Amino acid sequence: MIKVQVLTQCEHCNGEAYLPMGEAEDCQGHKYTRHVPCLICDGSGNEPKWVSLDDFAKLLRQAACPHNHTSYQGSMRFNAGDVWDDIQEVCDDCGAILDGQTLGDLTHDEN
Ligand SMILES: [Zn+2]
Ligand SMILES: [Zn+2]
Repeated sequence: MIKVQVLTQCEHCNGEAYLPMGEAEDCQGHKYTRHVPCLICDGSGNEPKWVSLDDFAKLLRQAACPHNHTSYQGSMRFNAGDVWDDIQEVCDDCGAILDGQTLGDLTHDEN
């Protein structure tokens, strides 16, 4: 069977890239969930994977999809004074995760 190698969502962290590592408190005493980069994908959320041509065809469909219907998944995180988020834009039609602006970029107004 012919297989092709692609970068796919890390199965260890489900593409989250960061995994919860218990609770901690920030300097104001607010509890938050600590996250550390996934060891398997090194915080990228992706891992190389050999897929069958069927699966590859599915990925091609995702690549060809115009992504007309999308929604945001994820949440803002506050960590020791830093604010970041793992919000991803996900296509409702094909399930592809889109590399678009995150909510953090959209609300960035420090300039
Ligand atoms: Zn991972
Ligand atoms: Zn799509």
